[in-house]
Amino acid sequence: MLRIARVGLDVPLFQTFDFLVPTSLDLSVGQLVRVPFGRRAGHTELGVVLELDSKSDFAPERLKPIDSAVEGVATLDPSLLELFGFCSRYYQAPLGQVITATLPPALRAHMRAEASAKRKAIHAAYEITDTGRVALLTLPKRATAMRLLLDALGGQPHTIGALRTIHARAGALLRQAIQHGWARQSTAQATSTVATIGEVPELTADQKRALDAINQPGNQPRAHLLQGITGSGKTEIYLRLIANALSRNQQSLLLVPEINLTPALLTQVTHRFPSARLAIAHSGMAANERLADWLDAQSGEAQIVIGTRLAVFTPMPSLGLIVIDEEHDPSFKQQEGTRYSARDLALVRASNAKIPIVLGSATPSIESLENAARGRLNLIKMSSRAVRSARLPIVEFVNLNAEKARDGLTDSLRRAIEQTLARGEQAMVFINRRGYAPALHCPSCGWMPECTRCSARMVFYRASQRLKCHHCGADSRAPNVCQKCGHAELHAAGQGSERIEDAVIAAFPNARVARIDRDSTRRRGEAERLLLAAEQGELDILVGTQMLAKGHDFPKLTLVGVINADSAVFAADFRAAERMAQQLMQVSGRAGRADRPGRVLIQTRFAEHPVFQAVSHHDYDAFVAVALRERQLMHLPPFSYLALLRAEAKSKEAVSAFLAQAQSLAKQYAAPLDVKVWEPVAATLERKAGFTRLQMMVQAADRKQMQRFLVDWLSDVREQKFSQVRWHIDVDPIEV
Ligand code: ADP
Ligand code: ZN
Ligand code: ZN
Repeated sequence: MLRIARVGLDVPLFQTFDFLVPTSLDLSVGQLVRVPFGRRAGHTELGVVLELDSKSDFAPERLKPIDSAVEGVATLDPSLLELFGFCSRYYQAPLGQVITATLPPALRAHMRAEASAKRKAIHAAYEITDTGRVALLTLPKRATAMRLLLDALGGQPHTIGALRTIHARAGALLRQAIQHGWARQSTAQATSTVATIGEVPELTADQKRALDAINQPGNQPRAHLLQGITGSGKTEIYLRLIANALSRNQQSLLLVPEINLTPALLTQVTHRFPSARLAIAHSGMAANERLADWLDAQSGEAQIVIGTRLAVFTPMPSLGLIVIDEEHDPSFKQQEGTRYSARDLALVRASNAKIPIVLGSATPSIESLENAARGRLNLIKMSSRAVRSARLPIVEFVNLNAEKARDGLTDSLRRAIEQTLARGEQAMVFINRRGYAPALHCPSCGWMPECTRCSARMVFYRASQRLKCHHCGADSRAPNVCQKCGHAELHAAGQGSERIEDAVIAAFPNARVARIDRDSTRRRGEAERLLLAAEQGELDILVGTQMLAKGHDFPKLTLVGVINADSAVFAADFRAAERMAQQLMQVSGRAGRADRPGRVLIQTRFAEHPVFQAVSHHDYDAFVAVALRERQLMHLPPFSYLALLRAEAKSKEAVSAFLAQAQSLAKQYAAPLDVKVWEPVAATLERKAGFTRLQMMVQAADRKQMQRFLVDWLSDVREQKFSQVRWHIDVDPIEV
């Protein structure tokens, strides 16, 4: 009898491919296989078996046999395949691509052998030596990373996986430590029972209520939205829930926006569960480590998986809990390839698996709050800070209409920083823009350098005297004279983080100042290093972008200055105000967390705007109420569902022609449904990297109608031959 396997591959086609199953192979659905594919003889591609059959539409002699099954990897289980299937249908992406794109890249690169060697090493535990204990006492203070590592090993043996959550470069550090004789492989393997060390605090009343609400048996919704103000102790809730899962021998999945920005959370997990097997999943990992951790999760050995959005697809046979920290964070939405929302997929996964899921945030997304209002999420609030003495900061405005800023800083803010430093406390200056200045400007003729490939100004970097485009990466020397009129002096217009850093250093020459943004933290481990230094009080003033708005805990921080927050007031994107409210509430929440009161100074022209009023009254809900009313009036999400067809080409005519065609194809499908297809418009950034970008919005009354429309419409659109046009569909876009 003929044995046929239908295989999903990493190709942009909505189909599977038929292969013969050799008699020697015993295959099941979900098995990863290598198949001959493409023109090169002997070349194989990674695929996944999606169906087994005894017949094919193709003549058997035209079918090629499967090369081999990927060894050592279990089949993807049905529940995971169900999630992939949902993802493919909902986001209109080919199933083969959805699956292969989320698998560890090492699986494609035939790295199996090395991975298993590495895997053994990963299971070994390491401990500190006596020399290491001496080194810990004598190492210079600036060797923070090594001290951190030795300190952890000093407590008890750690696996490399656990160490990696303490420091991104733990592998290299450990090698160094072993070379110096400071650490060695422990004879005592990390124990398999899960012990708890460190202080386990008494729960606060809020925390007790929250945990009771989540643990309550019965058939109330199992998806919870934990809205707890910054400092209310959401992490403790996560830890208790993970402990419960561990005690039931179930795996926990913890999703975070960005791994290297949440060292504190990772450290807490490893401190609380030092002997639990942990797996990490994010795209920045070395290929071998990613594969080893993925295999650990799939085998069920990893009890806790911590990762970024892609971790939502981690195979976990005994998954018992999903936690999403900072659920409002835009980084949970994938912005290329299959544009999925890890938060929404996690809800689907939890619901299929009938397990609890907790979405945590001080500032939940408006969508999630509306879902709570409609009863789809169980809203749990924590409104007081866990450390009783910690007070919410006092928020004040510096009116930029009345007080002029010099180099971005008003005198009020300068004075406040001075007072903070005088008390030996820490200050943070938050600015939402990188570089020295968003533009260079000729005072004589008004010329401003623009990117030749994008419709955007070049950002000026003073220290390196470069002009950079933040959209396409173009990078050139900054001119000394105007390229249009020859004027001998160009001015930097506006402020970026580099300029604020300069101004802060000039104003406080004796302070220890660090800038934390994407530019200053490009080197691996740099973000962790700076955040740790800030946390340990080794820095006096932090200048930074939204990287500082994520859940850090700086005990000495008592002042937050906010510069240039007004851009959100004018932004075209209807989510700009929500983003700004979230970021400002988050940075404000950084001030005064321990026993010192905090103060927040916001420089603005629009103190009356609901965003700023919400921040000043610590009343996110008030802002949400205003925003919800607006969105309801305008039929925007969560009161409608959007999908965006984005298209680009070198020539504007080509994109326009494509979208015109797509628009006319849409009519017959939209007409019988409650679906509206808008006119094509220019993207916010109309030209990027030499391509003209247009987009077309689809708006539907509910998800079902949207799905029905997209399936029919897109299958027509895919038939169109516009070879110069690149396009994609973004379902539930978060940037419009
Ligand atoms: P959130 O994530 O909600 O902003 P955290 O989880 O960072 O808050 O907690 C804020 C601070 O409160 C931390 O320093 C944490 O150690 C402390 N904390 C949390 N729960 C308790 C508790 N039950 N008793 C004492 N301190 C607590
Ligand atoms: Zn000029
Ligand atoms: Zn550019």
